[in-house]
Amino acid sequence: MQHVGQRVRLGGWVHRRRDLGGILFIDLRDRAGLVQVAIGPGAPDEVRRVAAGLGSETVIEIEGDVTARPASMKNPELATGDVEVQATRLAVLGAAVTPPIPVARGKGEELPAEELRLKYRHLDLRRPEMQGNLLLRHRLLQRARRTLADLEFLEIETPILTKPTPEGARDYLVPSRVHPGEFYALPQSPQIYKQLLMVAGFDRYFQIARCFRDEDLRNDRQPEFTQIDLEASFVGVEDVIGYVEQVLVALWDEAGHTVARPFPRLTWRDAMERYGTDKPDLRFGLVIGDWTAQVKALGVPFFQPALKDGARIRGLAVKGGAALSRKDVDQLADAAKQLGGAGLAWVKRQGEQISGSVGKHFTPEVLGALGVADGDAALMTVGPDRVTSPVLDRVRQEVIRRLAPAPHAAHAFCWVVDFPLFEPDPETGRPVFAHHPFTAPHPDDVARLDTDPFACRALHYDAVYDGNELGSGSIRITDPAVQRRVFAHLGMTPGEVEARFGFLLSGLQAGAPPHGGFAIGFDRVVMALAGADSMRDVIAFPKTTAARALFEGAPSPANPADLAALHIEVKR
Ligand code: ASP
Repeated sequence: MQHVGQRVRLGGWVHRRRDLGGILFIDLRDRAGLVQVAIGPGAPDEVRRVAAGLGSETVIEIEGDVTARPASMKNPELATGDVEVQATRLAVLGAAVTPPIPVARGKGEELPAEELRLKYRHLDLRRPEMQGNLLLRHRLLQRARRTLADLEFLEIETPILTKPTPEGARDYLVPSRVHPGEFYALPQSPQIYKQLLMVAGFDRYFQIARCFRDEDLRNDRQPEFTQIDLEASFVGVEDVIGYVEQVLVALWDEAGHTVARPFPRLTWRDAMERYGTDKPDLRFGLVIGDWTAQVKALGVPFFQPALKDGARIRGLAVKGGAALSRKDVDQLADAAKQLGGAGLAWVKRQGEQISGSVGKHFTPEVLGALGVADGDAALMTVGPDRVTSPVLDRVRQEVIRRLAPAPHAAHAFCWVVDFPLFEPDPETGRPVFAHHPFTAPHPDDVARLDTDPFACRALHYDAVYDGNELGSGSIRITDPAVQRRVFAHLGMTPGEVEARFGFLLSGLQAGAPPHGGFAIGFDRVVMALAGADSMRDVIAFPKTTAARALFEGAPSPANPADLAALHIEVKR
């Protein structure tokens, strides 16, 4: 309203046009939003003529006078809804073909298919929701930078054309033209460089780093993504966790949320025991219990065949679970079956009645001891932990989704610490690194490195938010001898180690300070704070789940002359 009476000049896009005969309205859109332009009977003929032919998404410039709208015409949903601009001049600055997907949407109108949105990304990005997401992304980036700079971290860039950095994915390779048959790798992370920066004495480093990982894509993954990457010297686990918490609290504050520090902490073992996952959603209770002793005694045939070799019966006492329909329970059982193992057994308790797939074996006393009260359900499975944990994690998530219990915590951050250093490769059983091979073994477990590597914990910590991993970090190995032993466990010969990681080892030999760090998955942070369902909605030009860029059309065949210059022949 403070602009009423002013003469203004505005540029923007024709969002909508309404021709009411005598008067024509244009909703003019720019980054800041919409303003209504009115072209009434008193407007110059030329203005009326041009306005009558305007197609949507045309770029125009208008000049006019800001007037208050009559009370009945005010639009409370618009920041500029109390005013309009009476146009006295109108020029078309950029003609627009009829847009293949609409930018303006009516209330409740569905979005075009995502393929179309990605193909015509320049139009999709004009939508206020997308503009809002990228604006938030910008603000979060600036805040992360400021926060880390205030903590005296130095922003240092590391190379994009590098040597492979193992983070558990395949590398994107870039052929060298001047060195036939040789390749650069795009960084899976700046890991080794940031460690070398610590060796070089920079003390505290950060980078808003683009990382590249060639993986089978999942919905929340992108082949290239952004990390807030940091590393510090002369620090232990507590220091790094403290820095990362400060950054996360600042980012949540930037989006208007107050989050308390310190975040709760669980060991990896406890997380797996209580939630069946290393990224537990702590907004909800629903903790997995070990029911072996109580349930084994009942002699239920369902559990017997699997009850051997360290197998356990584990279950969830679901508050209000008697309300799950038969269909719900069948779907939960199907979800469990897909993950292998014995499947799901269930019991419902409603007043005197105890029902369910194994209900007849249960008494109120046993159910009471398991925490299953009237109106609740018990969902159980049996087997080794490596089978029951993922099953119960999945069942727990599905139950939460179906029963939608009121969360008892908002913004449920936690740290999961003391991960195992190695995991068994699912196919060969050989050790593979759980984080990356530069993670230091837990000092209490170093002695077991050679005798019992799988029992060795690592100084590795993950930040988890509402059931999503937001990032990982660790204290690093600084003793070259320990680093060599870890490489040997991973099955690398000394020659391979030298060829792949010689530059790191020579750094560690040159006087390496104790150091550790972390990387925050920035796209996930923006997704959480924007309330977006897809990571693609917070990245300007993302790839599809098939790793294609639909807008620009990448990847695409290279022309034969370019391939020849790169000494590459494509086999079909
Ligand atoms: N380089 C690790 C990653 O990308 C993070 C870290 O250990 O600092 O997950």
